[in-house]
Order: sequence, then C-alpha cells, then structure tokens
Amino acid sequence: MTPKIAQFLRDRQPATPCLVLDVDRVEENFRAMKQALPIAQIYYAVKANPAPPILQRLVKLGSCFDAAGIEEIEFCLAAGAQPDWISFGNTIKKVSAIQRAYAAGVSLFAFDSAEELEKLAAHAPGSRVYCRLLVENEGADWPLSRKFGTTVETARDLMIRAGRIGLDPFGLSFHVGSQQTTTSSYEAAIGKVGMLFTDLKEAGVNLRMVNLGGGFPVRYSSEVPEIDRFGDAIMGAMTKHFGNALPEMLIEPGRFIVGNAGLVQAEVVLVCRKGKDDPVRWVYLDIGRFGGLAETEGEAIKYRIATPHDGMATGPVAIAGPTCDGADILYEKSNYRMPLALSCGDKVEVLDAGAYVTTYAAQRFNGFLPLAEHYV
Ligand SMILES: *Cc1c(COP(=O)(O)O)cnc(C)c1O
Repeated sequence: MTPKIAQFLRDRQPATPCLVLDVDRVEENFRAMKQALPIAQIYYAVKANPAPPILQRLVKLGSCFDAAGIEEIEFCLAAGAQPDWISFGNTIKKVSAIQRAYAAGVSLFAFDSAEELEKLAAHAPGSRVYCRLLVENEGADWPLSRKFGTTVETARDLMIRAGRIGLDPFGLSFHVGSQQTTTSSYEAAIGKVGMLFTDLKEAGVNLRMVNLGGGFPVRYSSEVPEIDRFGDAIMGAMTKHFGNALPEMLIEPGRFIVGNAGLVQAEVVLVCRKGKDDPVRWVYLDIGRFGGLAETEGEAIKYRIATPHDGMATGPVAIAGPTCDGADILYEKSNYRMPLALSCGDKVEVLDAGAYVTTYAAQRFNGFLPLAEHYV
C-alpha cells in the first residue's frame, strides 16, 4: 500500500468494495519498464485499466496505447493521445469499428487471419498492419490460449498478401500470455519472429517492426523475476536474431503498469464453518468473482489479502464473494490462511489489484453496484 492510498483510506473511509489506485505508482512502473527496455516504445494495454487519470498520466509520459476496441480508442483520444500513438491490437474487429478507427486517424492494425486482412484492406486502405503469431503460453498464470495468433507459414503468406492488396506490411506480434513468469517464453517467440523476418526478406517483403506484446508479471502470492531480467532477456534474444539491424520494437504492458498501483478494499460479511469441527472457515467478502476479481477463475491469480489482524494466529480458509452464484468462490484449493480473529465487519485489502478488476465487474448482478473507483 502506498502512503497516498493509506492516507485516502484513513481520511475518506470510502464505502466498500472499492478500488483505490495511486497514479504516481503508474508513473513509476512506466519509468521502470522504459528503463528495462529503453529502445522499445511502450503501448499501454488499455484493457488492464482504462480510467481517465491513468490514460492522462501516460499521455504526459509519452506512452502509446494498445486498444482492443473503438471505445478504448475513444478513451485514449479523450485523454489527449494522438491517433498515430494508438494501435488497434485486437485481431477480431467489427467492420464498423475498423471504419471508425480509420476515420479517427488510427493507422496501425493487428490481424491473424486472411479474412481479417481483407477487412482491413477494404476499410483501412494503406494502413500499417502486423500479423500476430501463435506462440507458447507456457509459464503464464493467465494464458491467452489458442484464441489468437496464426502459424508461421500462414503469417508468411498473409504478410506477402498484405502488400499486394494495398496495405503496408509493417511487422509481426505475439503475446506470451499474461502474468508470464518466465523470460524464456519471450526468447523463444523472438526466435520465431526472427526466422520469419529473414524468410520474408528473401521473398521481397521488408518488415520493420516487432511487437513483443505484454505479459510482464506482478508480484502476487509468489515472487516473480524483476522487470530488468525480462528486459535483458529480450534484448539478448533480439540481438542474437537480428544483429545490428534491429527493427522497431513495441511492447504492450498492461498488468505491469497498473497492477501494483492499486488495491481493493473490501469488508468481511460473514465468517463461518460448514460443520462444527470443520477446520476450514468460510470467509465471505463483499467482493467476489462478479464484483471484479474475475482473474481468480481457476484460482489463477492469487492475490495477497491484508487484514487488521495480520501477524496473529491463522487458520485455513476458503474465500468467497457475496453473490448467490456457486461459481462466486475466490479460493478453495489454494491453501489460503487468514487470522483466527477475523470477523464480520473487518476491512480487508486485496493487494495489487489495479489491473483487470474494474472492467471485469458485473453490472448489478444480484443488485450489487459496479466496483467504485478512486484515483489518488
Ligand atoms: C491483454 C493484452 C496485452 C496486455 O497484457 P498484460 O499481460 O496485461 O501485459 C497486451 N497486448 C495484447 C494484444 C493483449 O491482448
């Protein structure tokens, strides 16, 4: 918890559940990322948290933006971004969204299929396009699966085709999966990209850009490598595969920029046991899967939770949300422990919850309001 967040909670005593996020920490994270990979241009992945105070601060710092839809593009423009600082990075775009983005001046688009490439040629002629490769997501706590990306062979054909149908074949991208805890995943993906660059050059297509995606991890319950380790591994692999002829490099961090900048304050609604002698207590909070903690799906992201009784004796717990849905359980299998003194009415803090929380909150499920947000 940053001093500004602590002061806000103390002075304002906000209603729970709520996200409180320190925008100065966003700036620190941006600078740390920049220092770890100075030659890469940062395209903040807006979906991690699109709040105006965050976007405005990043505009001031010279960030570019990776937007997944036309609404996110409009958020960026409203925050002061120029259209040519925005990449429309979703490989699945409605024609109307492509048309609106193009009309707004966006000129950089992702794709991973022939069908999407044709849509771009028709509705965003002359634009720079990059093809997303399917890469291994091993080592990622929140993998992006096989939903995105295409094979090297298809990407090769599509990049050749792009130039023939009036688009600018600009580069290649990948995403190694979110909360990626290994540096080798980036190295392997860069190897793939490097080979395809060479191959395409021989076919007469000179690509100029590599988009390394996001994935950079935040420390939740387990330690993760420092951001500099990722920077070093990426630069090592880029130099190995491209020598001195380095292409433009883009990175799209989302979680890393905002994750540790905020926390969710919540209240304990009920602590009970299923059977009198059951060692496991059930702790119900006023926020769960549907209130914004969607990344606890499959217990994938393991948030640390601070309580007023930390340091005192603990016992095993299952932790769940307040809704009437049986899927609204945060942790049942991950051996969470909480203080035995924890009781109804206690305030707890879900730490490092600045990414992928506010936007995942349901609208009025069971009547619960969407998560309140405070930016300090
Ligand atoms: C979600 C996403 C990101 C951000 O990923 P993080 O793991 O939050 O860094 C970057 N690029 C694309 C294309 C994405 O879909």
